[in-house]
Formats: sequence, structure tokens, C-alpha cells
Amino acid sequence: MNIHEHQAKEILKEFGAPVSNGVVILTIDEIDKEIKKLNSKEYVVKAQIHAGGRGKAGGVKLVKNIEELHTEAKKMMGKILVTHQTGPEGKEVKRLYIEEASNIAKEFYLSCLIDRESSKIAFISSTEGGMDIEKVASKNPEKILTTKIELKKDGPSESEIEKILSVFKFNSDQTKTTKKLIKSLYRIIVEKDASLIEINPLIVTKENKIICLDAKMNFDDNAIFRRPEILKLRDLNEEDSAEIEASKYDLAYIKLNGSIGCMVNGAGLAMATMDIIKLYGKEPANFLDVGGGATKEKVAAAFKLILSDKNVKGILINIFGGIMRCDVLAQGVIDAAKEINLSVPLVVRLAGTNVKEGKEILEKSKLKILSASDLNDAAKKIVEAIN
Ligand code: GDP
Ligand code: MG
Repeated sequence: MNIHEHQAKEILKEFGAPVSNGVVILTIDEIDKEIKKLNSKEYVVKAQIHAGGRGKAGGVKLVKNIEELHTEAKKMMGKILVTHQTGPEGKEVKRLYIEEASNIAKEFYLSCLIDRESSKIAFISSTEGGMDIEKVASKNPEKILTTKIELKKDGPSESEIEKILSVFKFNSDQTKTTKKLIKSLYRIIVEKDASLIEINPLIVTKENKIICLDAKMNFDDNAIFRRPEILKLRDLNEEDSAEIEASKYDLAYIKLNGSIGCMVNGAGLAMATMDIIKLYGKEPANFLDVGGGATKEKVAAAFKLILSDKNVKGILINIFGGIMRCDVLAQGVIDAAKEINLSVPLVVRLAGTNVKEGKEILEKSKLKILSASDLNDAAKKIVEAIN
């Protein structure tokens, strides 16, 4: 799960990290009231969307007075912001964060994440902070230092902390603040089940102070059940509506950009199905694993989800009935098709438990279904059908 920058900064503050004062607004008329809580002449107006790269896309504006603040806020609110992380469709700006402006002397990079490969916590530090860390990583990887540390109760050791911040060459006050910051990041990872915290930029101001000027945080979905305070921060506006619907039915659904909708049971089989669609020259419209013991209601919900995607030109159902029964699958598909007009070709490949009953149910229905003998045949048939 992702959260907004202003929420991430709230958590940083709670853990003692240095952040600027700021206020969030959901409508333009809140500006005058909220701004009284800040103590500054200059501000930064920041679009709150779950994507980075806002600076280059006009989603971060430095303003010199309240008048300019109003002008920029009006321009930004409601705008569709397209950054290199949003995809071409962009994201609508529905809230703004207004912060006391900082005088930047230099921008650095600091992040902390779970490194699954080594089962460690990795800190990444670099002097090349700001807006182009991806470019630095590909062109000047030697400017990025990764320090992996074991998960332990007392957090990172003094020598590990010194290694992480060795690249920064800070003075003693700045070093003291950053050491504390590194410990705070580690604690947030452990105590809040965060999987990534990225501070880019971490700045030194002209007054020699250290500030976390931007903050991105991700949390482990599988641990959210024990972090209700984090779940409260979820912003459904930022999530794909089909994926929200899927999560209600506990379906593993990820929308993709192709034209063939897939309904499969088992993640491995779903991956194989997507691969074979590609082999025949088309792209899958989604990853969808209905799971082992899916009910007909769940199957119907999955089928409707696939059909709600306007890019879907054909559907491939590939079910291997182990725990799942083929007749239950067939009934779910028919129930859903009764509610929604099925106007695209449907290829079904069924195998396993109750396959005979399942096929009978599908045959008896008036649905136009192409039946396939195996996975290869199924992929070939659906690609032919939509061509
Ligand atoms: P991102 O582009 O989505 O990563 O948004 P950031 O929050 O990182 O802001 C982008 C850039 O705006 C930063 O790298 C800074 O250069 C600039 N910026 C942000 N806040 C301030 C500020 O308070 N003062 C100044 N001078 N620049 C700022
Ligand atoms: Mg940034």
C-alpha cells in the first residue's frame, strides 16, 4: 500500500525525523484558514498523488507570497498530472500540500527498504539527490552506496550507520541529525511494516540544517491487518477501481494493457497462460487468479471484472480443477454472463474435478463458447477469434 507524501512526513515527524511544517488542503477555500498555521513568507505547493516525478511535471511550485500561492494552487488542484511514474493517463490532483519553503544548499538521496533477495534491510545513500535518481543509478552507479544490514532488535550498529552516511561528508551537527534519521527510518520499517521509505531529496539548507524535503513510503499489504493506523491512510482515489473491486472478493487481479482477458486458477497457471498468449502474438489484459476453492459468486465477480475492461476483445478461461470444481466455475460464468451482455469471444479450457459436469453446464447455456482441448489450443483459438 502507498500513502501520500504529507502522510509519510507525518509518520517521519512522529519518529523524530526533521520535516518542514505543512498543511493539507482538499479545496481551494481552505487555503486562508490553513495557512495561518504556518510561519513563513514563502511556500511550496505540492500536488499529492501516489507518484513521483511531480517536480518536472509542474506538480511542485515554489511561491513567494500568498497571492502567488492562490494562483498556483488553483492551477494545480483538479489538474491531471502526467509524470514519468503515472503512465500516460496521468493522475488527477485531489489534494495539495503546502509547506514552508526551504533554502536548499544541496540535495542528497537516502532510502531504506526490505531487500528480499538477501533478507536484509538495505539503506541506499547518494550525494546525487533531487529529481533524477533513476538516471544516476543507470549512468553513475558508483555514486550510489547500498548498505545491507541484518534485522536486529537494536537496529543498525554505529559502524553501519557511519558507513551509510559516509558518502555525505556532513559536518558534526549534520552527522548527528542524520544518524538519528537513519535509526528512525529503520524503526519505521520494523514498527510500521513499511517496505520502502525514500527521502529524495534529503537536503542541507543554507542555514546548514538537514531536512527530509520529500518522502515516499510503501507498506507491506500482508501486514496491514496489524497496522490499522496505516490502513486508515489508504486513499482509494489513488487505486485502480477494478483492483479495489477485486480486493473485496479476495481475487488476485492486476490490470495490464493487452486485449485478452484471462481467468485462471493458480498463480503459476496464470503466468503460463499469459506467456502462451504472448507466444501467439497477443497481450494479456490482466493477471487474474481466482484461487483454489473459488465459489460461483467469486467466479462471477471475476468475470464481470474482466468484462468491465474496455480493452478486452476476447476472454480465455483456463481452469485446472483440483480443489476448484469445474461445474462451480461454469455456473459462475453463466450467472455473470446473464447479468452482462457477453459480446466478445470466449474460449474455455477446463480440466480436472467435475470437468464433465462443467462442460455440460456450459453447453446447455446459450452462451457462444469455443471449447479448447489444452492450453496451446486455447491460446491459439482466442487469438484467432479476435483476429
Ligand atoms: P518529486 O519531483 O515528485 O520527487 O517532488 P519533490 O518533493 O522531490 O520536489 C521536487 C523538487 O522541488 C526538489 O528536488 C526540489 O529541488 C524542489 N523543492 C521542493 N521543495 C522545495 C523547497 O522548499 N524549496 C526549494 N527551493 N525547492 C524545493
Ligand atoms: Mg522527490
